[in-house]
Amino acid sequence: MGAYDAVVIGAGNGGLTAAAGLAQKGLNVLLLERHNIPGGCATSFCRGRFEFEVALHQLSGMGTPEKPGPLRMSLASLGVLDDLEFVEMSDLFSVSMSDGFRLTLKADRDQVVSALEKKFPHEKAAINRFFDLAYKYANEMLAAFYFKDPDPSREKYPVLYGYAFKPANEVLDEIFSDPLLKGVLSVYWGYLGLPPNRISFAYLAMLFFVYIEFKPFHIKGGSQALSNAITSRFLSNGGTARFNCGAKRIVVENGAVKGVVTDDGDQIQTKYVVSNASQVTTYAQLIDRENVPDQIFTEMGGRSLSPSAFTMFIGFDCEPDTLGITESTNFLIERFQSDDTVFNRMRSIDITDETMVLSCYDVSDPEFSPPGTCQTNIVTLKYGEPWMHIPPTQYYRAKYRCAESMLRRVEAIFPEVRKHIEELEVATPLTHMRYLGHPNGAIYGFEQHTKDSMFFQPGRYSPIDGLYFASGWIGDCGFQPTLHAGMSAAKSIIRKLDAA
Ligand SMILES: Cc1cc2nc3c(=O)[nH]c(=O)nc-3n(C[C@H](O)[C@H](O)[C@H](O)COP(=O)(O)OP(=O)(O)OC[C@H]3O[C@@H](n4cnc5c(N)ncnc54)[C@H](O)[C@@H]3O)c2cc1C
Repeated sequence: MGAYDAVVIGAGNGGLTAAAGLAQKGLNVLLLERHNIPGGCATSFCRGRFEFEVALHQLSGMGTPEKPGPLRMSLASLGVLDDLEFVEMSDLFSVSMSDGFRLTLKADRDQVVSALEKKFPHEKAAINRFFDLAYKYANEMLAAFYFKDPDPSREKYPVLYGYAFKPANEVLDEIFSDPLLKGVLSVYWGYLGLPPNRISFAYLAMLFFVYIEFKPFHIKGGSQALSNAITSRFLSNGGTARFNCGAKRIVVENGAVKGVVTDDGDQIQTKYVVSNASQVTTYAQLIDRENVPDQIFTEMGGRSLSPSAFTMFIGFDCEPDTLGITESTNFLIERFQSDDTVFNRMRSIDITDETMVLSCYDVSDPEFSPPGTCQTNIVTLKYGEPWMHIPPTQYYRAKYRCAESMLRRVEAIFPEVRKHIEELEVATPLTHMRYLGHPNGAIYGFEQHTKDSMFFQPGRYSPIDGLYFASGWIGDCGFQPTLHAGMSAAKSIIRKLDAA
């Protein structure tokens, strides 16, 4: 296969933008992907007449053409913005509880505040205090980190310094007394992987800020359209992609990358590798042990794996309103429970009263599914470990038992669903493990405990010269962070080459 300036391992978001960013600058780049399509989580699959979205519920950081967000600007700089059509969602999310409680928050700060004030009039002052605090936090965070203040201090950024390491539940308890309101305001923990007592308030504040200010979006054609567009741009800039062909080994000599060996046994020479595979896989499986400094394993040993997911994809023979689904993003809650109970539920196989998110893309984009139909994607977070102990002969029984429980929970809120099912597919943590290659099927990389939050993440660099990372394993997870991670890795390599 010869020599390349750089090899990118994995065509998930981070791998794709790294490859496209390097090829755009004229580098000769090889992209290796084990799966037969690009995207990693950002893919789709077909059953019957439906093309199901695998992962994307709400794309963050896009903003509008008039008020572009960081992701819109990045996609423009990669040359893919005009190849895609983005669909703005009007709702932030809706919370539906089995006892009949319903609340929809629109993606607008004033409307969020007034909807909450109407439902929780006794907490009016606290609601305003919460959003003032979240916005102050986000603005200080952007000034200090995004705009890279060279001289940040506690005096300049009192809210950032005061709240960056506070668990989200402590801040909610400080401000509110109504447990239902605290539950509603913390549902976004599902996008982070840990309940509010284990994540920093920083994440909750930033999520509200980015989704309100830059609006939640979906993509026409789903996240696969985004992955395809970046792949096409990479190829048109001279890149080479090989699908159904993983990287088996990264060759390291004297502390520096020398090449990559593919699953097919081809030996490729290169001085630069960007790994979109997990750090665990990269260091423990792709590189010979004697070439990995001990300190790497010590550091990784201090981190834990995020949950995976149990997901049900349903294609219906009717439009969303026939099912009573009127919002794109619906958190389905049986009852709000203690954070420790929620955490323990994620560690069990069966589904009973877990929080779930149900997305119906057809609400914002009526053309998403074939005419007269719609689809939903319902997810609850589950750790992969217990699934790995299920004997193969019992796997299907466990999978469909959980699917039935999940369907019953959905029926409790939307009673018409069962009679309109045309297609149904289920993904367990083992499915995610198989398709992504991540240990335990972890979908959010390492867990983002307060102590491992954005301020302590391992980052794209490696002590091995020429090895870079671009994925949800080295920073925040989600589309926006991982797409940016790939572009940052590409920039680091280009800077290094320019300096040489
Ligand atoms: C069910 C679900 C719902 C989600 N919802 C949202 C959402 O609404 N909003 C949001 O922002 N984020 C969401 N996310 C998170 C988001 O999808 C991920 O954080 C992001 O896509 C991860 O991108 P990544 O770059 O880390 O690569 P990944 O998607 O993890 O892909 C890694 C790629 O590397 C490949 N690979 C691994 N090993 C090798 C090897 N040895 N050789 C070659 N290739 C290899 C894999 O095949 C895979 O294609 C969701 C995720 C899931 C699973």
